[in-house]
Amino acid sequence: MSADCLFCRVVAKRIPARIVLETDAVLAFHDINPQAPTHVLVIPKEHFRAIGDVDPVTAGQILATAHEVAKYEGIDESGYRLVFNTNEDGGQTVYHVHCHVLGGRHMTWPPG
Ligand code: 5GP
Repeated sequence: MSADCLFCRVVAKRIPARIVLETDAVLAFHDINPQAPTHVLVIPKEHFRAIGDVDPVTAGQILATAHEVAKYEGIDESGYRLVFNTNEDGGQTVYHVHCHVLGGRHMTWPPG
């Protein structure tokens, strides 16, 4: 746990979140400012700053959980988008790695 990390506080249940799925390794919860009808964040419970810091096993757990979230939310067939905003140009604002699971509407390309 990183003392000043927002998502570590979510993991510790010190900040409330609407949890979708939880395992020993990862937590999935609704984004506080949803950009689509489904907007869930999947995070490892262990603190990693960004995707480049994550070991392959944890990265696989994040991705597998993201697909489970899509199934749970009923958007796996209609389609969804997974996003890792990374560092400043990538638009990352919270430096505890997280995968956005976005769906429930048609996504456009390119992203902004
Ligand atoms: P980033 O911009 O780093 O890719 O995404 C951070 C995300 O975290 C944003 O979509 C933002 O709405 C979300 N977020 C920020 N603070 C909180 C919070 O306290 N609770 C939840 N559930 N989401 C948050």
